[in-house]
Amino acid sequence: MILALSLYSVALAAQLIAVLYAIYLFTLSKSYRLAGGCLAIGLGLMLGRRLNPIVFIWNGGDINIVDAFLAVPISGFLLLGVLHIKALLNRLEVQNFSLGQISKIDPLTLALSRAETFARSELEILKSFRSKKSIAFMMADIDHFKNINDAYGHPIGDVVLTNLVKTCQMELREIDIFGRVGGEEFLIVLPETTQEKAQEVAERLRILVSETICASAQDQEIRITISIGLVMFDPLKAMDNDPSSILKDCYNACDQAMYRAKQAGRNQIST
Ligand code: GH3
Ligand code: MG
Ligand code: MG
Repeated sequence: MILALSLYSVALAAQLIAVLYAIYLFTLSKSYRLAGGCLAIGLGLMLGRRLNPIVFIWNGGDINIVDAFLAVPISGFLLLGVLHIKALLNRLEVQNFSLGQISKIDPLTLALSRAETFARSELEILKSFRSKKSIAFMMADIDHFKNINDAYGHPIGDVVLTNLVKTCQMELREIDIFGRVGGEEFLIVLPETTQEKAQEVAERLRILVSETICASAQDQEIRITISIGLVMFDPLKAMDNDPSSILKDCYNACDQAMYRAKQAGRNQIST
């Protein structure tokens, strides 16, 4: 009788812990609520089946020793299952976080990704309505980049892209946005910046890039130049207050300005 009662008690304790763990899952976050709730209810109801034989034996009922021995692994495996689900959810959370980070960064150059660049730019547009300060949008495109790929190969082209990003990022402020929005096209957003200051920054970037050795190949130092299209967004003159349509307009405008810089001979800034 003592052996059977002990086995049923161990099984009851294991199942109780499993129920508490399932309740813990339920309280962790909204996404775990359904799984945790179902497990807690199911396992909770099954507690009755663990308690019944204890009451039955205590009241002098017959002992079924096989059932008593089986109760321990049944409850034990249920507990292990719940613990394993919790471990899996922890792992998923870590992976989700890493995926979120990856989607924000361009894997080749480590500049911001296109999506993240647009998301942050829209936030800056919203902020500018409160601060009433203008934002500079610049589109920078490498001049004759195809020639670099053709002459030295794509891997060297990739090194050039990566070093261009490093060079530009070193020149910019923490609050500035530097994102890769195309193969060799970069959107630079300077919040709280006047037109004069933006011209100065664009010119500094243009000169710095032209003077930097972006890669070495075939015993040659590779230098590049960039063409920049610059437009300003002034929240005080805005006809629209939708950040996504404002961004679209600014993006198109600086892209067109960049093409004018190309047509005018490249390695220059156009507004
Ligand atoms: P332009 O001065 O008119 O901008 O000439 P371009 O040669 O730079 O412009 P074009 O659009 O003709 O070519 C862009 C090139 O950029 C073509 C493509 O092979 C290259 N490119 C785009 N993405 C990558 C990349 O991730 N790595 C490398 N190595 N090259 C890339
Ligand atoms: Mg180009
Ligand atoms: Mg291009």
